Amino acid sequence: MEKLISCCGLNCASCDARIATIANDDELRRQTAEKWRVMYHAPDIIPETINCTGCRVEGVKFGHWSTCGIRTCASSKNFDTCGQCEALLGCDTIKPVLQFAPEAVENLKT
Ligand code: SF4
Repeated sequence: MEKLISCCGLNCASCDARIATIANDDELRRQTAEKWRVMYHAPDIIPETINCTGCRVEGVKFGHWSTCGIRTCASSKNFDTCGQCEALLGCDTIKPVLQFAPEAVENLKT
């Protein structure tokens, strides 16, 4: 499994938080924070919180990482990702992600 595929199947390589972190791009941090505040109804997201190298790679993580129910569930079962879980397609925990980003299922199979 490609390390830049997150536990839930999102592709960290194309995530603006990771791109801004790797490039240390403050303008992209600002744009991403503005977009995510609206998208996730999260007024506490500010440019300074846009720092992440990826869900499953070493380095700084976005704040949600520590409390993500999907990641903690997969980790509690000793899975690298939800792609190893037989319950994947019927799982209510990961369902919102798969509705928002249906390509995640394919990413989890690779
Ligand atoms: S139960 Fe759901 S969140 Fe937990 S590992 Fe399986 S698919 Fe992932």
